[in-house]
Amino acid sequence: MPQIYYNPGRRSFLKSSAQAAGLLTAYSLGVSSVLAETSSAANEVQLALLSDTHIAEDVQNVYRGFYPSRNLESVVPKVIAARPDAVLINGDVARLTGEKGDYAQVKKLLAPLAEQKPVYMTLGNHDHRENIQEAFPAPKGLQNVKDKQVMVIEQPSTRFILLDSMMYVNKTPGFLGQSQRSWLEGFLRQSDAKPTVLFVHHTLADSDSSLLDVERLFQIIRSHQKVKAVFYGHSHEYKYEVLDGIHLVNQPAVGYNFSDSEPVGWLTGTFRKEGADLTLNAFAGNMKDNGKSKSLAWR
Ligand SMILES: [Zn+2]
Repeated sequence: MPQIYYNPGRRSFLKSSAQAAGLLTAYSLGVSSVLAETSSAANEVQLALLSDTHIAEDVQNVYRGFYPSRNLESVVPKVIAARPDAVLINGDVARLTGEKGDYAQVKKLLAPLAEQKPVYMTLGNHDHRENIQEAFPAPKGLQNVKDKQVMVIEQPSTRFILLDSMMYVNKTPGFLGQSQRSWLEGFLRQSDAKPTVLFVHHTLADSDSSLLDVERLFQIIRSHQKVKAVFYGHSHEYKYEVLDGIHLVNQPAVGYNFSDSEPVGWLTGTFRKEGADLTLNAFAGNMKDNGKSKSLAWR
């Protein structure tokens, strides 16, 4: 379930009529339009990519020496300074069970950011569907998928699809399910050739704690040349792989790592028709790749 937290001040509503027209078009296509309000060059879009923030109501909550609330608090001004067009948190927004109090704390921490940029969220296994929905409104442009909510964000250079792999609260595995896979297959068949990037919380491995229908996901996306990359979190690791020409990007966690060899941080990403440039902003854990960029060329 993607969520959105966007609470722009009055000034942000002063848009040109051309942008307003673009908004209407986006609405009528059934895609998210919030990002269409942004002003970056039409040939690229910049995203701040966070994952696994793991925020608890208790700001003193600590795990492996990391204080997730303090981490997010320190990241927010850095994200604002990076001036992305939008922010995406790829699941495990909450600490363990997605309590209402957890999301209240998330909301408080993200408020300065959400005044300026839309913050999109996918759901992870430590989120709670009803509680997060109560805290943040479901975005416009949700796709019609039974029991799952999926969002498409259309930008001139890139199309982003936010998938929903959340199965059970506080149980590790994830699952897209038949209705979502059918939707994806149909959507990819009918949409134009614009480079398409998927976001899903769960790891793309053959393991009992990963995305259980990952093989079936790849059966669908492999043959669609427009699918260029899949971004995921869950493992709290930072890693790049390529499978059948599709880039797989394991986003680092903001809350904490599971191993000292992994960075704790977030990515800035510039997406163009031809590929993406991703830069690691590490602030704890393994800092050796902090500030380093990786260029991905689309197949
Ligand atoms: Zn996590």
